[in-house]
Amino acid sequence: MSVKNQDILIVGGGIIGMLTARELAKAGASVRLLERGATGQESSWAGGGIISPLYPWRYEESVTALAAWGQQHYPQLSRELYEESGIDPELLPSGLLMLDVEDTEAAQAWATAHQHKIETLHADGLRDLEPGLAQGDSGLWMPDVAQIRNPRMAQAARSALQKLGVVVEEHAEVTELMVESGVIRGVQTVNGRYDAAQVVVASGAWSAELLARLMVPVQVEPVKGQMILYRAQPDAIRHIVLNHGKYIIPRRDGHILTGSTLEFVGFEKSTTEDALMELRQAAEQMFPLLAQCEVVNQWAGLRPGTPTGIPYIGEHPQVQGLYLNAGHFRNGVVLGPASARLMADLVLKRAPILAPDAYALDSVH
Ligand SMILES: Cc1cc2nc3c(=O)[nH]c(=O)nc-3n(C[C@H](O)[C@H](O)[C@H](O)COP(=O)(O)OP(=O)(O)OC[C@H]3O[C@@H](n4cnc5c(N)ncnc54)[C@H](O)[C@@H]3O)c2cc1C
Repeated sequence: MSVKNQDILIVGGGIIGMLTARELAKAGASVRLLERGATGQESSWAGGGIISPLYPWRYEESVTALAAWGQQHYPQLSRELYEESGIDPELLPSGLLMLDVEDTEAAQAWATAHQHKIETLHADGLRDLEPGLAQGDSGLWMPDVAQIRNPRMAQAARSALQKLGVVVEEHAEVTELMVESGVIRGVQTVNGRYDAAQVVVASGAWSAELLARLMVPVQVEPVKGQMILYRAQPDAIRHIVLNHGKYIIPRRDGHILTGSTLEFVGFEKSTTEDALMELRQAAEQMFPLLAQCEVVNQWAGLRPGTPTGIPYIGEHPQVQGLYLNAGHFRNGVVLGPASARLMADLVLKRAPILAPDAYALDSVH
């Protein structure tokens, strides 16, 4: 089999790998992205696309910093992806309404410290925002939170990469990272070997498996999340609504997502009747109108889970030229743009947009 050369290889074609490839290509690097299946079909397809962590004040500062950068840059990113691909990722400023939150003081303190808008609402205020809502005595309202239609965003990113000259190779599983004397030399794939001086692993939930032989035990494990999809009238529900961990995301065309489960069951993505019942119950108790709507789809995805939700973004401490950008857990869509930019800064030795220490491979996660 032939050996091919590229400056930089990206392993994994989810949102993280594709946004990283885009940042590097925009800086002039020659980039090849290797994807085991088809791009954007794993967690990045399965997710909800909320451009905020759920209950964002409960996260570490290092997660907040990535999220804030992403929230600030999403309008521009979405516009650029649309222009570059002709595919509208449907960024929608639908706001986030959280019902019956217990730690409201912590939420307000965080909002003040980080200049986020959080308004406290009582029952009347909740019904003014969402007349069909049947639950909630009080709520916290974040009007500035948006959503994106993540499967469309992934399609747009894929098409944009080709325009930027990135070689996107699908059905090209990486089976081994080639390391000699502490330096990365390239990768072995099912289609042959590729030489490169820099390799970025962005393989989502599968990242730890690839790195397992290289001494640094990164803690990334699959965490299954199931979702269901209703078909409703557009604007039947207009805001993202979160109630004790279960949420409703209304898309522009009337489809309504409800998620999600959090299951530590390894690499398996089957959907279950129990989850269907649990999600239907949560959704229909919140909005009884949904009981009249058809559930048109149910699916599961594997989040790249880390213990704290802080992703790994950095160079391998013992292997020069090998980088990891993975472990975004429940927040890869909102954290993706900043993670990609920071990764590119580190690979290209530019001044980083954020202090990188908290995301280093040998830091506490
Ligand atoms: C139900 C659910 C709801 C979610 N909701 C949200 C949300 O509202 N907001 C938010 O910000 N985030 C959300 N997330 C999280 C978000 O989807 C993930 O954090 C993000 O998609 C991770 O992106 P990724 O590119 O790292 O992983 P993935 O999208 O899983 O991509 C990894 C890619 O690597 C490929 N790969 C793996 N191994 C190899 C190999 N050896 N060789 C080549 N390719 C390989 C895989 O095939 C895959 O395409 C949600 C996730 C789920 C499951």
